Amino acid sequence: MKGKIVKGIAGFYYVNVAESGLYECKAKGIFRKEKIKPLVGDEVEIEILDETAGTGNLERILPRKNELIRPAVANIDQALVIFAVTDPKPHFHLLDRFLVMMERKEIPVVLCFNKKDIAKPREAAALGEIYKACGYPVILTSALTMENLEGIREALRGKTTAVAGPSGVGKSSLINLLQPEARMETGSISRKIARGKHTTRHSELIYIEEGSYIMDTPGFSSLYVNDFGEEDLKMYFREFVPFEGRCRFNGCSHVHEPGCAVKAAVEDGQIHRSRYENYLEMYRELKEKKKY
Ligand code: GDP
Ligand code: ZN
Repeated sequence: MKGKIVKGIAGFYYVNVAESGLYECKAKGIFRKEKIKPLVGDEVEIEILDETAGTGNLERILPRKNELIRPAVANIDQALVIFAVTDPKPHFHLLDRFLVMMERKEIPVVLCFNKKDIAKPREAAALGEIYKACGYPVILTSALTMENLEGIREALRGKTTAVAGPSGVGKSSLINLLQPEARMETGSISRKIARGKHTTRHSELIYIEEGSYIMDTPGFSSLYVNDFGEEDLKMYFREFVPFEGRCRFNGCSHVHEPGCAVKAAVEDGQIHRSRYENYLEMYRELKEKKKY
């Protein structure tokens, strides 16, 4: 049977099989010999040992699409970055950092602005426009009124999605609403886990519907990639790229050069000022880091 590893604890792998639910599996010796460590997110084949108890053996790991090290997870298709329209007001610098990190890792991003119910409609739309103009899909939602949950569901369909965002924006509320009738909680295995240690944070996939999973890992949100030089940063601000060729100087950093088309685009409103300012700040940080 085919399934997906949703959780790994102390040598056990919890495999979700569509229709039949969760199986507690052990990796057989072959994995140790081949030095492959099964990861959360792996698509696997399992052999069922006991249907009633929900136990099995991992037989084979199907080829991975990708693999992240921190958090250790395989086959992430995209990231859903959640912020609130207001309360807390979006922290644009943090948001732009997330976006740089995802661009760097080549993980597609879907942006969600939640708490639409308590924002002025025009405010919410304007926020969305900033990032739509950069080419990101933007979904406006309310976990309170359940507005546009379908929009998120659609974006998640058939994919494994890592969820990131600061606390207080409604991530848990949205994730709870997206889950089918607490499916994971009803199995005897997950009941056993639920009573276990809550202190350790494991990477864990949450089942949404067939083929759709999300991963909510706090570590994912705080992770900032700065393993590159400041000269590469401009590639990760995707709305800058079309202007690049119009700058007076080849390899323009868009920071201090005269005749910079990116700066001109900021002046006439084609590039949003807050995006450019955050670019400058990250640019300086990366440059400082190199000096020491
Ligand atoms: P998390 O820290 O990102 O997981 O956020 P929570 O889901 O815990 O939500 C933080 C607070 O915001 C809670 O008091 C929620 O009830 C509230 N909240 C979440 N979503 C919405 C929303 O769409 N509208 C409003 N008005 N409040 C919300
Ligand atoms: Zn330039």
